[in-house]
Amino acid sequence: MTYQNYSLDQLRAIDNAHHLHPFTDHKDLRAAGTRVVVSAEGPFVYDTEGNEILDAMAGLWCVNAGYGREELVEAATAQMRELPYYNSFFRCTTPTPTLLSQKLAEISPGNINQVFYGSSGSESNDTALRLVRHYWALEGRPEKNIVISRNWAYHGSTIAGTSLGGMEAMHAQLYGAVPNIRHVMCPYAYENAEPGESDHDFGLRAAKAVEDAILEAGAENVAAFIGEPIQGAGGVKIPPASYWPEIQRICEKYDVLLMLDEVITGYGRTGEWFAAQSMNIKPDTITTAKGLTSGYQPLSALLVGDRIANTLVEKGGEFYHGYTYSGHPVACAVALKNIEIIEREGLIDRVREDTGPYLGDALKAGLGDHPLVGEIRTCGLLAAVEIVRDKSTRERFQPAGSAPVVIRDHAIASGIMMRAVMDTMIMSPPLIWTRETVDMAVERIGKALDLAQ
Ligand code: PLP
Repeated sequence: MTYQNYSLDQLRAIDNAHHLHPFTDHKDLRAAGTRVVVSAEGPFVYDTEGNEILDAMAGLWCVNAGYGREELVEAATAQMRELPYYNSFFRCTTPTPTLLSQKLAEISPGNINQVFYGSSGSESNDTALRLVRHYWALEGRPEKNIVISRNWAYHGSTIAGTSLGGMEAMHAQLYGAVPNIRHVMCPYAYENAEPGESDHDFGLRAAKAVEDAILEAGAENVAAFIGEPIQGAGGVKIPPASYWPEIQRICEKYDVLLMLDEVITGYGRTGEWFAAQSMNIKPDTITTAKGLTSGYQPLSALLVGDRIANTLVEKGGEFYHGYTYSGHPVACAVALKNIEIIEREGLIDRVREDTGPYLGDALKAGLGDHPLVGEIRTCGLLAAVEIVRDKSTRERFQPAGSAPVVIRDHAIASGIMMRAVMDTMIMSPPLIWTRETVDMAVERIGKALDLAQ
């Protein structure tokens, strides 16, 4: 590509003229101007101005193996030469989705042995929603079709993904949601716990909200509960340890399927292949994407448990669902190589035993006493720094409704790319980070906070 022939101003003018960005206020973008990222290596990205920015978000929670992986480029190139595309419809397949499915069955929880592919997390959640409802229909119980989700959930931005999600601003623009999806409180103690309520009790109370919703709808009408093990885009909201075991118990008690959305937490981020394993959850489906290919190719994989898969096979009949790019051979070749790299370099063990705990300790030691920091939460290489005006009252840093860009911009100016969800600064770095990278990040976040004071 010859972007070098263009100045930043020219690129911005062309971008303004022709490119609508996702999740963007375009009026604001035109006033502020876009940043143009042109290259990346290891943990860093570089923009047109030559700024080296530490990418604490792994792109968009996805570049788990880090940037500049020649092996992934080679895997894609070799597959494109041999067979750039063929589908897996109509009694056909290609080798890479077949072999990737075998590998995913090997690394996922024991009851999961089948995989359905898409190109994005949103698509995969559409698949999951249709599949759980189809399951109950095949079982002769089509009335069991309500799905329970949570406030602040993010399950993608297709109509089904948005309906499943619990983002108020997105719902306001739905103009007609997918029916029979209900939302309950999320297990976010920092904001929702009562004064004096222990984390443990709060976790049980948040799980009870799910049980109440099942009872209100009638268990005979409820197909499934869906949740991210840790709510990512909602603000890295980490539930108390009591929450998921109780959710599992409730789902079993009422015969409600358990759908996990591990689009962010999958592929090593919490120190196991999947958070289901870190948290000992036995789901019926796991939605995965992002880290599956480290973002080098668009690919999602819905991991399907035996209960659903066996019914699909035993009852037969076509499941009228799929995408042209389901099981795309190039994307699957990249995923296979990406998983090989993660295994070979022991990246997940490193997160669990070294960099994950180190990140938590370093953030708390380096920033815990900062006057703008209300809370620091981490799990593996996922972290949130809660920014407040007043530590004791937890008064929000920015007035409600204002754009959460202030600290994000200070962070970029300090050489670190983070994401802002309201007043929560978020990190989800590549798994290749070392202790030195963590130290660099803490120092740069400290600078950003000082700029915001
Ligand atoms: N589910 C979760 C938990 C996510 O975080 C995301 C994206 O951030 C999605 C689904 C949607 O994935 P995609 O943007 O690939 O459609």
